[in-house]
Parts: sequence; structure tokens; C-alpha cells
Amino acid sequence: MTEPHAAQRHQQRMQRKKTVVDAAIARADHDQGLLLVLTGNGKGKSSSAFGMMARALGHGLRVGVAQFIKGSQDTGEECFFRQQEQVVWHVLGEGFTWDTQNLQRDRDIALQGWMVVQEMLRNPDLQMLVLDELTYPLQYGWLDMERVLADLRRRPPMQHVIITGRAAPQALCDAADTLTELSDLKHAFRAGVRAQKGVDC
Ligand code: ATP
Ligand code: MG
Repeated sequence: MTEPHAAQRHQQRMQRKKTVVDAAIARADHDQGLLLVLTGNGKGKSSSAFGMMARALGHGLRVGVAQFIKGSQDTGEECFFRQQEQVVWHVLGEGFTWDTQNLQRDRDIALQGWMVVQEMLRNPDLQMLVLDELTYPLQYGWLDMERVLADLRRRPPMQHVIITGRAAPQALCDAADTLTELSDLKHAFRAGVRAQKGVDC
């Protein structure tokens, strides 16, 4: 049985915690479209973005997806989300430089892709955009960072944008409202386990 003074101490601690949490909640008093950046070497960037997308769809929002790097196999999220009425899904890259080894072609593909994103950034009916693996064309300099940031700033005020990919450039991190770095503490792939359906693809 809990001793009376232990129970009382617990209650006081929880009361103090509640005061702090309630004050923080009261301070968060406005709504806006957010720029979220998920970066780092750990697993969970794209799957976190698609988790938020599922939340948004659950609330009846419309979501646009732009995938800048397309893997060789279809992912579960692509198969699933393409079936949803409220989703627009664009594949804008095919593997880029390690497949094509052609710089000008990579730049052209990235630029054409960004034009598709620009359209979505002008569409207030899309309340969330997932720009999956956008950090790569930025990091390689195929897309101009200032131009991308300017287009992001001009988007509809309530539109959320989620950007994923390793090595997000500093300017993008600075522009983010919510910035998460996932660290690679352990990954089953290094123990010889192939990509598993439902977990990795
Ligand atoms: P996920 O899509 O699973 O959230 P991610 O978006 O964080 O992963 P990417 O760099 O886009 O990671 O890599 C995509 C694929 O590589 C996924 O199959 C993922 O499981 C795998 N992966 C992610 N991080 C690592 C890692 N540190 N080591 C090995 N494989 C990884
Ligand atoms: Mg990813």
C-alpha cells in the first residue's frame, strides 16, 4: 500500500506539473500552416511524414505528395495513399544521379519537379504537402535554395509542408517551424536483414 505522505508528495508533484503544462498550452494560442523538416540518418523520416498524412486524411484534409527520389519498388504507403480520394501523388524523380550519371538531366528533372510543387504551393485546397526526399536535390544544388524558400514563404497561410531527407541544408533547418533529427542508433539492415514489407517499404 502507498504510504500517505508518498501519495501526497506524488499528488503535489503532479499538480506542479499540471500547472506548467497548462501554462504552456495556454501560451500556444494561434493556428498556422507549419513547415516541418525531418532529417538525420536514422530511420523514420518518410514514415513519420506519412503518419501525419494519415492523421490529416482522418480529419478530412486534402494532401499532396511529391516524391523526389523514387525507389525501384512500390512502397506500401504509395499503394495505400493512391487509393484515397483526398490524395494527389506525384513521382518527380527516378533515382537521380547514381542511375543516370548525367548532371544536366538531373537538374532538369529536379526543376520540372519543383514546378509541380509550385502549383501545389499555390493551391489552398491542399492543406498538407509531403515533399519526400526533397533534401537531395537541394543538397546537390539542382534546386536553388533561395527560390525554394521564397516559394515556401508564399504558400497559403494554413498549408502545412513536411520535408524529409538526410542532410537538410542549414537554411532549410533555419526556416523550419518544427525540426527533427532522427539518429541512427541501430538498424536491422546492418545485421543483414533485407527491407521488410510494412516496416521499410
Ligand atoms: P522510412 O521510410 O522507413 O521512414 P527514412 O525515410 O527515415 O525511412 P531513407 O533515408 O529515406 O529513410 O531510407 C529509406 C529506406 O532505407 C527505408 O527502407 C528505411 O528503412 C531504410 N533506412 C532508413 N534509415 C536507415 C539506416 N540508418 N540504415 C539502413 N537503412 C535505413
Ligand atoms: Mg525517406
